[in-house]
This record gives sequence, C-alpha cells and structure tokens, in this order.
Amino acid sequence: MQYFSLNKNAPRVGFQEAVIQGLAPDRGLYFPETITPLPHSFFKNIENLSQEEIAFAAIKQFIGDEIPETELKQIIAETLCFNFPCVSVEEGVFSLELFHGPTMAFKDVGARFMSRCLGYFNRNNDKKVTVLVATSGDTGGAVASGFLGVKGVEVVILYPSGKVSEIQERQLTTLGKNIKALEVDGFFDDCQDMVKKAFLDDNLKHKNLTSANSINIARWLPQMFYIFFAYQQLKKHNKPLILSCPSGNFGNICAGIMAKRLGLPISHFVASTNANDAVPRFLVAGNYEPKPSVATISNAMDVGNPSNFIRIQQLYRFDLKEFEKDFSSYSFSDTETEKAIQTIYHRTQYITEPHGAVGYLGLKKEMAKHPESIGVFLETAHPIKFLDVVEPLLDLKLPIPEQIESVLNKEKVSVKIKTYEELKQFLD
Ligand SMILES: *Cc1c(COP(=O)(O)O)cnc(C)c1O
Repeated sequence: MQYFSLNKNAPRVGFQEAVIQGLAPDRGLYFPETITPLPHSFFKNIENLSQEEIAFAAIKQFIGDEIPETELKQIIAETLCFNFPCVSVEEGVFSLELFHGPTMAFKDVGARFMSRCLGYFNRNNDKKVTVLVATSGDTGGAVASGFLGVKGVEVVILYPSGKVSEIQERQLTTLGKNIKALEVDGFFDDCQDMVKKAFLDDNLKHKNLTSANSINIARWLPQMFYIFFAYQQLKKHNKPLILSCPSGNFGNICAGIMAKRLGLPISHFVASTNANDAVPRFLVAGNYEPKPSVATISNAMDVGNPSNFIRIQQLYRFDLKEFEKDFSSYSFSDTETEKAIQTIYHRTQYITEPHGAVGYLGLKKEMAKHPESIGVFLETAHPIKFLDVVEPLLDLKLPIPEQIESVLNKEKVSVKIKTYEELKQFLD
C-alpha cells in the first residue's frame, strides 16, 4: 500500500516509511492511496470470526506485504490482549468499553500496535528511533506502557503541566527505562506545536524522530478494530447502528469512517465534543476555523485544531453535502456533561467518566432523530482515571483497579520545559 500526503507536496511512501516518518516532509498527514471494501460475505459471517481474524482482515490491505502475515498476526494478538465489551446501558444504548487494557484507555490499542510495528521494522538495525509524542491526557500513559522496553526505541512524552489527572501523570512519569516525560508550561496545543516543529527541524534529523499521536497511521488505523467488534456484538439487533465517539483529535471517529469505507454497516456517525467545538461549528458554518483549546473536565479532548479532521474531510471528499448524509457533530458544556454522568448513574447504575458522557450525550441527541436505530458510544477511559470528577458527582468511592494501583506508589520523574529551545536541548 502506498500513502500520499494530504498536503500533496511530498513523495508517496509505503507503510513502513509512513510509520517511521509519522508526518510527511510537507507537514501533511499520510492517507492510503486506495481503500478496498471487504467482501459482503465477511460481514455476513462476522459473528463466527475471532477478534484477531476480524482485525487481520481490516488492516491487511493497509500494510500490504511490508510485514509478513505470521508477524502481523502476532502483532495483532499482542495488541488485542484484553476485551472490548459492548455493555447495555439503557434500551437501545450501548457503551463500547475500551478501557480494559493495561493503562485503561482506548489508546492502548493503537500504542501497542504501533510499538510492535516499529519493533519489527527495527529488528535488524541498530539505528535508534525517538518517538516524540504530545499528550492531552491518555496518549502519554498508553504510549509509555505500549513502548516500554521496545528495542531501539526511545520515547519522549510532552504533557501540559497541571492539565492531566494525577493518575494519568503517574502513568507517564513513573515507568523509567526508555520512557522520558517532559512537563510543559502550557496547553496541549503548545505541546503538539513543539512536536510538529521538532519533526521539521533539520538539526534534529539525526534523532530519527517519529510520532505516536493518531497522526501516525500505525496508531490511527488499528482503531478500526474495535468499531468492527462493536458491530459484531450488536449485529443481532438487526437495526441501523449509530456510532458516537467522544472526539479530541478525531482519530477514533476517523477510524470509524474508514471502517464504513471497508463496508462496515454504520448508519450514522456522531463526533461528540466538549467546548472545543471547531468541527460542530464547521458543520453549521461550512468553513473550518480552529481556535486555541480551552480546558474542560474531559481534558483528553481539549484540542482546538483536531489533527485528523483533514483525513475526515478527505474521506468525505471535502464536500459538506457528503458530510450531511451520515455525519453529525455536537458540542457539550462541562455542566451538561456533569449532569449526564449523574443522570446515567441514577437511572441505570452505569458509571461513565466525562469523555464517555460526552459521547452518550451526542448519541442521545442523534438517536432522537432516528427512533428506529440503536446506538453505541465509546467509553474511552475507565472512570477511575477521572475520579476527581466522578467521585464527588456520584458521591461514591471508586475501587482502584490493579493496573492503576501499581503506578500510584511509584515516584514521578519529569523535566519541566517552556520553550521549543528547551525541548531541542533535551533531545540533543
Ligand atoms: C484521546 C482521548 C479521546 C479523544 O480521542 P480522539 O481519537 O483523539 O478523538 C477521548 N477520550 C479519551 C479518554 C481519550 O484519551
């Protein structure tokens, strides 16, 4: 498979090159040259397939022959080391729980897949790669855990000081070994800008920098897996399926749309956002005007200029009319989100956290227009990761899962930086 840059000013590259580069030399995101739907028989038979078989079928064409079949199957098996249950929350509404992995965030999937791809590409070579990643919350922990101990890979994580939860901070600052954490005096967008700048800095070429944000195709594409798993579990209801993704950088929803291009029967997409509403405003006004991010209680979605939106526009051929057929996007305030967490719990006993609750709100809003449908929202993190919000709202104490317990007593190690120059010095 060949990938082109969405800025259209860089050479086409294969899967390996696109993963290693992260961002194309013209700063564009890579996009696959062709998307071939899976055969109808695959969807007819999907309930009889294992998750590993589904994942293999979904991703194979995007990798081509650059990773041999047996190796790719091994990478998939190691990626999918946990479950993805669709839990019934209320009549016709399901929560796809993506938080059963090692860091209790959906990003475990992309991080595990990508790290193992890089490990494979590095198998015979001693050239060190530095994975440079900006996190608004959960990416850092998932990348730290996914890449820990991977040969030939150094990981540097930038996170906005004071804007991630205590547990998130522990997960990305306590592992040591090949994982380093930089605490940035600023917002997520500042972290992201520094990372983008570093990729284009000729003076850092010798570091072989790559990204592990969802701009990287090896992080983004495997996110299709669990959208397929949701359909596999919900197919028996035999009703149109609406998918709502709590969206920040819009990687998940973009993976969902890709899954539909492969033939997955999703009837409607909802990109649910917090106050960072560049995309909902785009759908109303028709022009895309990103703004600096604002802080919210769903902080992993505090993204002013979602990187994957350009890929989504490509998938809809940059045509607002195409969007209108099966894509909506709604923004919700912190107050609405808090109220949803309470209402869902009091009505159903189901505990959501702020991101999942935003997803739920968007889903309900869309379902009101399609009463014949069922819907699924992604629960992208375990409520324990946002206990500061969830516990007081529900007036309860959440039990601490084992995965979290193990990092809480470890010592935080981070380096504070403010400017790009400081990042450069650190890397060099
Ligand atoms: C990263 C993240 C999101 C946003 O996902 P995108 O793919 O960037 O839209 C939502 N919820 C949680 C908990 C996250 O960590």
